[in-house]
Amino acid sequence: MANEKTIIPYGKQWIDDDDIQEVVDVLKSDWLTCGPKVDEFEKAIANYCNAKYAVAFSSGTAALHGAYFVLGIKQGDEVVVPPLTFSATANGVVYCGGKPVFSDINPNTLNIDSSKIEEKITPKTKAIAIVDFAGQPCDFDAIKQIAQKHNLPIMEDAAHALGSLYKDQKIGSLADLTVFSFHPVKTITSGEGGMVLTNSQDFYEKLKIFRHHGIVKKPEDGPWYYEIEELGYNYRLTDIHCALGLSQLKKLDKFIARRREIVKKYQEAFGNVPEIILIKEESFAKSAWHIYPVQFDLTKLKIGRQEIFEQLGQKGIKCQVHYVPVHYMPFYQKKFGYKKGDFPITEQYYERAITLPLFSKLTDEEVDYVIATVKQIINVNRKI
Ligand SMILES: *Cc1c(COP(=O)(O)O)cnc(C)c1O
Repeated sequence: MANEKTIIPYGKQWIDDDDIQEVVDVLKSDWLTCGPKVDEFEKAIANYCNAKYAVAFSSGTAALHGAYFVLGIKQGDEVVVPPLTFSATANGVVYCGGKPVFSDINPNTLNIDSSKIEEKITPKTKAIAIVDFAGQPCDFDAIKQIAQKHNLPIMEDAAHALGSLYKDQKIGSLADLTVFSFHPVKTITSGEGGMVLTNSQDFYEKLKIFRHHGIVKKPEDGPWYYEIEELGYNYRLTDIHCALGLSQLKKLDKFIARRREIVKKYQEAFGNVPEIILIKEESFAKSAWHIYPVQFDLTKLKIGRQEIFEQLGQKGIKCQVHYVPVHYMPFYQKKFGYKKGDFPITEQYYERAITLPLFSKLTDEEVDYVIATVKQIINVNRKI
């Protein structure tokens, strides 16, 4: 029974004995890394997403670094990025020496506002980065039109959107490069891990080299001989991780169905509460729902966001806020001159947002407890 003693995190993995057995099998095998499970996991994800190629990385962040690297982002280049994202989306641009040029979000979907992208494009712009916030695909056709007009590639940070659909198409083959993460809070996990998907053979080959120190084998000079022409990293993912990821992938559709079921309950319960503002699901989108952020209309309440957050915490509901806008980070302010006030839509969202618990293993009873607790806090603190 969910009650005062309940502790409900905002997100959590779901690992069963069959997942554990797959990992144990790898530990007893000859290959702990660079073995058959890596290929198998890459092929399985590419196949699931209808993409030609996939390259596994040690994290989603490493995968983002790889994606920006193969796009050729260098010192002096700019990439358009939404300010409402996990900072890794922007950090990857900076790893390559480039500048993330933030472009504000749409207040209804919380994705980058496609109507504002064009004014951010300069002769230095080399790519457009988009994020499918909370799992809802971006307004892709509109963004694609802008990208084509300016001859720019699209890098899609789909860390929230594995299994999401845009106009009935799985996320993973729409953009020039699509990045996923398999961190434990994501829809499926490999412990740590990430992947880049692409339909370009050129990108695919460069990603594999970048992931492995930049090493290019030169067998004509001896079976051992290799050269490094461009600097790479050790961003490999192990067979241990990939075995877990493969086992989890079998359950992805079940996990997504459960997440959508939970969100339906939330949306129905909160839909007619005037103090709560929900994400608008676009008709072209079917979200896999990685997180469930809501906004509180604080003009209608006697308490602020932090008090709501803390009261939920006292009742065992351990929420989160996604995300502190990237342009609030002192690093970005010092290095690029961003400041509070630059992106008002993102800031308004951030100041009143709380992410409520959402994960596949959440029970109906726990969902009901979250709903009742949120409603109770609002009822007690409503301005009259
Ligand atoms: C989780 C996440 C990442 C980073 O993934 P890691 O695997 O944790 O490195 C990047 N972008 C977004 C939007 C994310 O949610």
